[in-house]
Amino acid sequence: MVEKAYEKLLERSREISALESVARLLHWDQQTYMPEKGQESRSQQRALLARLIHERTASPELRRLLEEIEGSGRLESLGPEARANVRELRREHDRQFKVPAALVEEIEKTAALSYRVWVEAKGNDDFDSFAPRLEEIVRLSKAWADAVGYQHERYDALLDTYEPGMRAAEIEPLFESLRSELVPLVRRIVGARCEVDTSMLRRKFDAATLRRFGKGIARDLGFDFKAGRLDASAHPFCCGVSITDVRITTSAEWSNPIDALFAVIHEVGHGLYHQGLLPRHRGTPMGSAVSLGVHESQSRWWENFIGRSRSFWEHYFPKLQEAFPGLMDDVAPDRFYGAINAVRPSPIRVEADEVTYNLHVLLRFELERDLLSDRLDVRDLPEAWNGKMEHYLGIRPAASGEGVLQDVHWAHGMFGYFPTYTLGNLYAAQLDRRIRREIPDLDAMVGRGEFHELLAWIREKIHRHGSRYRPAELVRRATGEALSTTPLVDYLQGKFGPPYGG
Ligand code: MG
Repeated sequence: MVEKAYEKLLERSREISALESVARLLHWDQQTYMPEKGQESRSQQRALLARLIHERTASPELRRLLEEIEGSGRLESLGPEARANVRELRREHDRQFKVPAALVEEIEKTAALSYRVWVEAKGNDDFDSFAPRLEEIVRLSKAWADAVGYQHERYDALLDTYEPGMRAAEIEPLFESLRSELVPLVRRIVGARCEVDTSMLRRKFDAATLRRFGKGIARDLGFDFKAGRLDASAHPFCCGVSITDVRITTSAEWSNPIDALFAVIHEVGHGLYHQGLLPRHRGTPMGSAVSLGVHESQSRWWENFIGRSRSFWEHYFPKLQEAFPGLMDDVAPDRFYGAINAVRPSPIRVEADEVTYNLHVLLRFELERDLLSDRLDVRDLPEAWNGKMEHYLGIRPAASGEGVLQDVHWAHGMFGYFPTYTLGNLYAAQLDRRIRREIPDLDAMVGRGEFHELLAWIREKIHRHGSRYRPAELVRRATGEALSTTPLVDYLQGKFGPPYGG
């Protein structure tokens, strides 16, 4: 009975998902409230969970169930939701099954060790001490990709982890087009020397008041605090423990305190996606976010397209002035808007503005793709990094800590992750263009602090579908258009071109 096998498969899926949810909760706790000395026992707990999740996902029982359903010839009759669940569980099973347990363990150990070496190397601007670890990580990542398999190039196996179905060869022309549009735009903006005063963002905003303010915005945007929390951590993140338990964090450690607000809006975007998945699909792919790229489209859309818009601050700037009596009285709303959107090439990705951000990602995509296909040696990485940085952004990092060592991703062995940031921006721009067509008075709504219609639209088009469609298909269905750079380039030219001298 195929129905019975499918029911059993879902049961297994829910169990694996429950284990994953425990692992995420442990991670959240580690980043927020865990005392320092809890580190060692936490590592053991997480390693055990990782092993259990791997064993269950790669289990012979799961394989038998998948084979029974797929071989029954009756998968079609189970309907589109079941087909999506079977497709995604098969994909996950294959990926885990094909990788030898010894390799999984070696990767985990190396990543843990590399992370510690990376922290120190970054602090000392000392790439040479990290290079042997990174060589090891590149070697293991290649072995992993070769074990999982790929059709075109090794990088695809890694990219597929974060963006199912996406290939490097598909991303390359998108990045090419962004580069040819954005590099000249950045040059024009820098050349125009429109000095934008951003000093008011660094005034003494009380951190607790700012967090309360952020919490108010989160609530207005539709974040359900009965199914979520907002806490503090060193780096902001969103942790979807489950659909009805979504933890977001912000950080107090910014050079501009106001950035803490944008971090909240960003993480709320991720959080709303989790909260918008359908509870009846809990614990199955249909009830899970489809990819990191789509996830990032949600956070970026709320943060940049909505949160950094003029109409958003028409509503919130007077409230900000009120929340911090006296602090912002001399600032005109227009100056504030200019400051939160200032374009300034900086060596640091996480501090980058909307225009330069994708060039940071492009640089990483090119370098990691070269590393994995043996076109670039780890030893030559810093020079390659600095060369590209100079070419794309016109700056050279003063030291490796703010250059090649700045991100944690490679230390963790997360190759193929970076492009999802830019895919997120591309999807977001495409969604933004569509929603503005369907809700013509969107700006007026935002200017009144009304977001429910926007959220309803994005829920209908994206959230409720879970992993029903692959990312590119989901966005095509939502917007009626194939993935392209036009909406993002048009948006950036419009917002930052002439107004910023570009
Ligand atoms: Mg994000």
